[in-house]
Amino acid sequence: MVVNIDDIETVAVIGSGQMGRGIGAVAALAGYDVYLNDIEEEPLEEAKEEIEWSYGKAVENDAATEEETATALDRITFTTDFEGAVSNAEFVTEAAVEQQSIKEDIFEDLDDAAPEEAILATNTSGLNITELAEVTDRPEQVIGTHWFNPPMLMELVEVIMTEYTPAGVADTGEAIVESFDRTPIRCR
Ligand code: NAD
Repeated sequence: MVVNIDDIETVAVIGSGQMGRGIGAVAALAGYDVYLNDIEEEPLEEAKEEIEWSYGKAVENDAATEEETATALDRITFTTDFEGAVSNAEFVTEAAVEQQSIKEDIFEDLDDAAPEEAILATNTSGLNITELAEVTDRPEQVIGTHWFNPPMLMELVEVIMTEYTPAGVADTGEAIVESFDRTPIRCR
Protein backbone atom coordinates (compact mmCIF):
# COMPACT_ATOMS: atom_id res chain seq x y z
CA MET A 1 0.00 0.00 0.00
CA VAL A 2 1.32 3.44 -0.94
CA VAL A 3 1.20 6.34 1.49
CA ASN A 4 -1.56 8.92 1.17
CA ILE A 5 -0.54 12.58 1.02
CA ASP A 6 -2.49 13.34 4.23
CA ASP A 7 -0.44 10.76 6.14
CA ILE A 8 2.97 12.25 5.29
CA GLU A 9 4.52 13.94 8.31
CA THR A 10 8.18 13.05 8.02
CA VAL A 11 10.51 13.63 5.08
CA ALA A 12 14.04 12.26 4.80
CA VAL A 13 16.63 13.73 2.46
CA ILE A 14 19.69 11.61 1.64
CA GLY A 15 22.70 13.75 0.81
CA SER A 16 23.10 17.16 2.43
CA GLY A 17 25.02 18.88 -0.37
CA GLN A 18 23.88 21.81 -2.47
CA MET A 19 20.51 20.33 -3.38
CA GLY A 20 19.73 18.18 -0.36
CA ARG A 21 20.13 21.03 2.11
CA GLY A 22 17.88 23.26 0.00
CA ILE A 23 15.19 20.60 -0.34
CA GLY A 24 15.36 19.95 3.42
CA ALA A 25 15.01 23.66 4.13
CA VAL A 26 11.92 23.92 1.92
CA ALA A 27 10.33 20.79 3.43
CA ALA A 28 10.82 22.00 7.01
CA LEU A 29 9.39 25.42 6.17
CA ALA A 30 6.37 23.62 4.70
CA GLY A 31 5.78 22.00 8.10
CA TYR A 32 7.37 18.55 7.73
CA ASP A 33 9.69 16.93 10.23
CA VAL A 34 12.89 16.58 8.22
CA TYR A 35 15.84 14.23 8.57
CA LEU A 36 18.82 15.43 6.56
CA ASN A 37 21.30 12.60 6.15
CA ASP A 38 24.86 12.44 4.86
CA ILE A 39 27.79 10.04 5.14
CA GLU A 40 30.00 12.91 6.33
CA GLU A 41 29.63 15.32 9.28
CA GLU A 42 31.15 18.27 7.44
CA PRO A 43 28.43 18.78 4.81
CA LEU A 44 25.81 18.45 7.55
CA GLU A 45 27.48 21.23 9.53
CA GLU A 46 27.71 23.39 6.40
CA ALA A 47 24.08 22.55 5.60
CA LYS A 48 22.94 23.83 8.98
CA GLU A 49 24.81 27.10 8.52
CA GLU A 50 23.54 27.57 4.99
CA ILE A 51 19.94 26.81 5.94
CA GLU A 52 20.17 29.38 8.77
CA TRP A 53 21.51 31.89 6.24
CA SER A 54 18.82 31.17 3.65
CA TYR A 55 16.08 31.37 6.29
CA GLY A 56 17.51 34.75 7.30
CA LYS A 57 17.23 35.89 3.67
CA ALA A 58 13.64 34.58 3.53
CA VAL A 59 12.79 36.73 6.57
CA GLU A 60 14.54 39.77 5.03
CA ASN A 61 12.50 39.29 1.85
CA ASP A 62 9.21 38.84 3.75
CA ALA A 63 8.88 35.29 2.43
CA ALA A 64 8.66 33.93 6.00
CA THR A 65 8.60 35.21 9.56
CA GLU A 66 11.33 34.78 12.14
CA GLU A 67 9.03 32.52 14.14
CA GLU A 68 8.29 30.32 11.11
CA THR A 69 11.96 29.91 10.23
CA ALA A 70 12.96 29.25 13.84
CA THR A 71 10.28 26.55 14.09
CA ALA A 72 11.37 25.09 10.75
CA LEU A 73 15.02 24.91 11.83
CA ASP A 74 13.96 23.05 14.97
CA ARG A 75 12.17 20.51 12.79
CA ILE A 76 15.39 19.49 10.98
CA THR A 77 17.53 16.67 12.34
CA PHE A 78 21.03 16.66 10.84
CA THR A 79 22.35 13.11 11.01
CA THR A 80 24.79 10.53 9.68
CA ASP A 81 22.49 7.76 10.97
CA PHE A 82 20.84 6.51 7.76
CA GLU A 83 18.41 4.06 9.37
CA GLY A 84 17.34 6.56 12.01
CA ALA A 85 16.76 9.14 9.26
CA VAL A 86 14.52 7.01 7.08
CA SER A 87 12.77 4.58 9.40
CA ASN A 88 9.78 6.88 10.01
CA ALA A 89 9.84 8.83 6.75
CA GLU A 90 6.79 8.50 4.53
CA PHE A 91 8.59 10.42 1.77
CA VAL A 92 12.30 10.10 1.09
CA THR A 93 14.23 11.99 -1.52
CA GLU A 94 17.74 11.04 -2.46
CA ALA A 95 20.08 13.92 -3.39
CA ALA A 96 23.48 12.25 -3.15
CA VAL A 97 26.24 12.46 -5.74
CA GLU A 98 25.32 11.82 -9.37
CA GLN A 99 26.62 8.24 -9.72
CA GLN A 100 24.40 5.34 -10.69
CA SER A 101 26.14 2.75 -8.47
CA ILE A 102 26.02 4.99 -5.38
CA LYS A 103 22.36 5.76 -5.96
CA GLU A 104 21.55 2.06 -6.53
CA ASP A 105 23.19 1.19 -3.19
CA ILE A 106 21.17 3.94 -1.50
CA PHE A 107 17.91 2.70 -3.03
CA GLU A 108 18.62 -0.87 -1.91
CA ASP A 109 19.21 0.42 1.62
CA LEU A 110 16.12 2.63 1.46
CA ASP A 111 14.02 -0.32 0.42
CA ASP A 112 15.21 -2.18 3.53
CA ALA A 113 14.94 0.69 6.01
CA ALA A 114 12.08 2.99 4.95
CA PRO A 115 8.44 2.21 5.82
CA GLU A 116 6.93 -0.09 3.21
CA GLU A 117 4.31 2.49 2.18
CA ALA A 118 6.94 5.24 1.67
CA ILE A 119 7.50 6.90 -1.69
CA LEU A 120 11.19 6.94 -2.61
CA ALA A 121 12.30 9.78 -4.89
CA THR A 122 15.55 10.78 -6.53
CA ASN A 123 16.78 14.22 -7.50
CA THR A 124 18.97 12.83 -10.28
CA SER A 125 19.48 15.13 -13.25
CA GLY A 126 20.36 12.49 -15.82
CA LEU A 127 20.59 8.95 -14.43
CA ASN A 128 18.14 6.16 -15.21
CA ILE A 129 15.34 6.22 -12.62
CA THR A 130 13.79 2.99 -13.91
CA GLU A 131 17.05 1.20 -13.04
CA LEU A 132 16.97 2.73 -9.55
CA ALA A 133 13.37 1.51 -9.16
CA GLU A 134 14.43 -1.99 -10.20
CA VAL A 135 16.87 -2.45 -7.30
CA THR A 136 13.92 -2.16 -4.90
CA ASP A 137 11.00 -4.47 -4.17
CA ARG A 138 8.67 -1.51 -4.69
CA PRO A 139 9.50 -0.17 -8.17
CA GLU A 140 6.04 1.39 -8.47
CA GLN A 141 6.84 3.64 -5.47
CA VAL A 142 10.06 5.09 -6.96
CA ILE A 143 9.81 8.42 -8.79
CA GLY A 144 11.97 11.37 -9.71
CA THR A 145 11.41 14.72 -8.06
CA HIS A 146 13.91 16.96 -9.81
CA TRP A 147 14.48 20.32 -8.17
CA PHE A 148 16.27 23.28 -9.64
CA ASN A 149 19.07 25.10 -7.87
CA PRO A 150 18.61 26.74 -5.39
CA PRO A 151 15.53 24.89 -4.10
CA MET A 152 14.66 27.72 -1.67
CA LEU A 153 14.13 30.08 -4.61
CA MET A 154 13.12 27.96 -7.59
CA GLU A 155 9.42 27.45 -8.15
CA LEU A 156 9.28 24.39 -10.41
CA VAL A 157 9.91 20.73 -9.54
CA GLU A 158 9.73 18.01 -12.19
CA VAL A 159 7.85 14.87 -11.09
CA ILE A 160 9.27 12.05 -13.19
CA MET A 161 7.42 8.78 -13.77
CA THR A 162 9.17 5.55 -14.73
CA GLU A 163 7.59 2.74 -16.70
CA TYR A 164 6.47 1.29 -13.35
CA THR A 165 4.80 4.42 -11.93
CA PRO A 166 1.03 4.15 -11.53
CA ALA A 167 -0.94 7.36 -12.05
CA GLY A 168 -1.87 7.40 -8.34
CA VAL A 169 1.76 7.56 -7.24
CA ALA A 170 2.52 10.33 -9.74
CA ASP A 171 -0.54 12.19 -8.36
CA THR A 172 0.82 11.80 -4.82
CA GLY A 173 4.25 12.98 -6.02
CA GLU A 174 2.63 16.11 -7.44
CA ALA A 175 0.64 16.64 -4.24
CA ILE A 176 3.85 16.39 -2.20
CA VAL A 177 5.51 19.02 -4.39
CA GLU A 178 2.45 21.28 -4.01
CA SER A 179 2.53 20.77 -0.23
CA PHE A 180 6.11 22.10 -0.37
CA ASP A 181 4.60 25.25 -1.93
CA ARG A 182 6.22 24.45 -5.27
CA THR A 183 4.75 23.85 -8.74
CA PRO A 184 5.05 20.31 -10.14
CA ILE A 185 5.59 19.51 -13.81
CA ARG A 186 4.91 15.88 -14.68
CA CYS A 187 7.46 14.20 -16.97
CA ARG A 188 8.12 10.70 -18.24
P1 NAD B 1 26.73 17.75 -3.86
O1 NAD B 1 28.01 17.16 -4.31
O2 NAD B 1 26.67 19.17 -3.46
O3 NAD B 1 26.18 16.91 -2.61
C1 NAD B 1 26.14 15.51 -2.60
C2 NAD B 1 26.18 15.05 -1.15
O4 NAD B 1 25.89 13.66 -1.13
C3 NAD B 1 27.55 15.24 -0.47
O5 NAD B 1 27.38 15.98 0.73
C4 NAD B 1 28.00 13.81 -0.18
O6 NAD B 1 28.74 13.69 1.04
C5 NAD B 1 26.67 13.11 -0.09
N1 NAD B 1 26.71 11.65 -0.26
C6 NAD B 1 27.48 10.91 -1.08
N2 NAD B 1 27.20 9.60 -0.94
C7 NAD B 1 26.19 9.52 -0.01
C8 NAD B 1 25.49 8.45 0.57
N3 NAD B 1 25.72 7.18 0.23
N4 NAD B 1 24.55 8.72 1.51
C9 NAD B 1 24.31 10.01 1.87
N5 NAD B 1 24.95 11.08 1.35
C10 NAD B 1 25.88 10.82 0.42
O7 NAD B 1 25.68 17.42 -5.01
P2 NAD B 1 24.38 18.25 -5.44
O8 NAD B 1 24.78 19.32 -6.39
O9 NAD B 1 23.58 18.58 -4.23
O10 NAD B 1 23.60 17.16 -6.30
C11 NAD B 1 22.86 16.14 -5.70
C12 NAD B 1 21.97 15.50 -6.73
O11 NAD B 1 21.09 16.50 -7.26
C13 NAD B 1 22.71 14.91 -7.93
O12 NAD B 1 22.03 13.74 -8.36
C14 NAD B 1 22.60 16.01 -8.98
O13 NAD B 1 22.68 15.54 -10.30
C15 NAD B 1 21.22 16.56 -8.68
N6 NAD B 1 20.97 17.94 -9.10
C16 NAD B 1 21.93 18.90 -8.89
C17 NAD B 1 21.64 20.23 -9.28
C18 NAD B 1 22.64 21.33 -9.05
O14 NAD B 1 22.49 22.40 -9.68
N7 NAD B 1 23.63 21.15 -8.17
C19 NAD B 1 20.39 20.55 -9.84
C20 NAD B 1 19.43 19.55 -9.99
C21 NAD B 1 19.74 18.23 -9.62
